[in-house]
Amino acid sequence: MSPLPYADRLDRLKEQDLYRRCRLVEGGTSGRVRVDGHEALLLCSNNYLGLAEHPALKRGAQRAVERWGCSSGASRLVSGTMELHTILEERLASFKGSEAALIFNSGYAANTGIISALVGRGDVIFSDRLNHASIVDGALLSRATLVRYPHNDPAALRRSLERHPAKGRRLIVTDGVFSMDGDLARLTELVAIKQEFDALLMVDDAHGVGVLGETGRGSAELCGVTAKIDIQMGTLGKGLGSFGAYAAASRELIDWLVNSARSLIFSTSLPPAVLAASLAALEIVESPEGGELRRRLAENSRFFRDSLRSAGFDTLGSESQIVPLLVGDAGETMTFSRRLLEEGLFVQGIRPPTVPVGASRLRCTLMATHTREELEQAVESIVRVGRALGVVNRHV
Ligand SMILES: *Cc1c(COP(=O)(O)O)cnc(C)c1O
Repeated sequence: MSPLPYADRLDRLKEQDLYRRCRLVEGGTSGRVRVDGHEALLLCSNNYLGLAEHPALKRGAQRAVERWGCSSGASRLVSGTMELHTILEERLASFKGSEAALIFNSGYAANTGIISALVGRGDVIFSDRLNHASIVDGALLSRATLVRYPHNDPAALRRSLERHPAKGRRLIVTDGVFSMDGDLARLTELVAIKQEFDALLMVDDAHGVGVLGETGRGSAELCGVTAKIDIQMGTLGKGLGSFGAYAAASRELIDWLVNSARSLIFSTSLPPAVLAASLAALEIVESPEGGELRRRLAENSRFFRDSLRSAGFDTLGSESQIVPLLVGDAGETMTFSRRLLEEGLFVQGIRPPTVPVGASRLRCTLMATHTREELEQAVESIVRVGRALGVVNRHV
């Protein structure tokens, strides 16, 4: 039997409302955009603090291009370690309170590289069921046994650890802020469990760094457990408005990653402009301006979430700037998204396989740059369209 042609597979996706395409978004990343001919308020960007268009990041990137050019020219271990790589790594280590840090080219490259370097055949990875796909891919690549524990359930994690006694290494890995539900990992309990079972703990803070904690150091700062996490991974392309990712850990672990993380070893390192933008972003995050941006973001998130919750939407466990609106059906989710675009609101629908079947949703993300007036209008449109489609109050 010959395999199903790709055209037929694409048709099948269309029939199931699971077909995807890249949409052209014109007009930047901080507020009003143009999508498929519609002027709209951007409500699905991870540029949480608006730093992607901040003058200081632009200036940093421009100066770096003038001074160092457009490319690093090689991977890190060949000739691709420039001044800016070492400066940013030192800066990240001091920011995260770790002995050392290592830059990766993206969060995806970091997770696949870190996890497959730290564990292998005979080891066991304990991964929250809602962890990001790049964590799952890293686990598959590592060939370690993958145990997915129920979402945000430390008691279930503990039982899993008891069922898998230490033969090799044991690695617990979790998102700090869950990317599709917007809830927070229970890090204090995870740290206690990691200590009790002598396991490694890795936290992916893609949506926490810059945004959470008094000084923007992320979800570990919020929970007061920074020093107790073995590997703090985070990304520079979301809240920090730049691009790339990092691991912050002990000198020993970082040296091991340099010697074994294949996504680091076999890939050209990040270019100067990107590194300089990240440095400028960290300056802002740690400044009073950063504190003010975080305060505005938190206020916007609270207003938006509370308004939609009291209008009868199921926002799942959201307690961050990521606010899902549960719909359920994939087709209805996409209709909802389309109707909102006609109303001047750009919110993406999220469908399987990114979320479980029957849990399709609109994933709204707030930014510090949204005004109260814009959000009031957004809430009004979402409630009106949601009622017309009958997706409000369905799950409560
Ligand atoms: C976005 C994301 C990543 C991937 O980071 P990129 O830099 O975009 O490749 C990894 N983990 C989580 C939790 C994410 O949300």
